Amino acid sequence: MIDTDSLKDYRTKRDFHYTPEPIGGQNVSSGKPRFVIQKHAASTLHYDLRLEVEGVLKSWAIPKGPSTDPRQKRLAIPTEDHPLDYIDFEGVIPKGAYGAGTVLVWDTGTYENINEEDGETISMAEAIQNGNVKFWLNGKKIKQGFALIRTNKALNKRWLLIKMNDEGANINQDIVATEPQSVLSGRTLEEIADKKKI
Ligand code: MN
Repeated sequence: MIDTDSLKDYRTKRDFHYTPEPIGGQNVSSGKPRFVIQKHAASTLHYDLRLEVEGVLKSWAIPKGPSTDPRQKRLAIPTEDHPLDYIDFEGVIPKGAYGAGTVLVWDTGTYENINEEDGETISMAEAIQNGNVKFWLNGKKIKQGFALIRTNKALNKRWLLIKMNDEGANINQDIVATEPQSVLSGRTLEEIADKKKI
């Protein structure tokens, strides 16, 4: 069982008798680092991008979700590290709990670290520290490169998710609108929420 101090925030915010979210600790890394993009109908709908880095899921909340258009810079707000077993969490966080609302696994898979400096690969942890993170997502919906760029170092709160100018770039596509369903269950947010009401 791996425990990490960086999950303290995650655990402090949640009452695990109440929320169905994982407490963490079942952190089995499968070799290639993984990612998830969860669609989260909390008080405001947003997408959570989580990248496996050194045993936890580094996380950013993205109000509008990812875009395949390199001209669209999507606001990405860093949130607390999540445990690795959050990667397949899909369900309903009950009213009154932190982040209350329905969570859907919008896309998941592995990713590749494509951060380089002077021809050398730099680690994801270092890239995050530098506020300039490039990665190639091998998801079910998304198979392309993105960059996360920190724009305000002092506050550390404002990042942008930007589509890299590669063969996956497409200015005529609205991927979050055309593919709303879960890659795990095929369900929509409404279907996940309905099941819990019965
Ligand atoms: Mn969220």
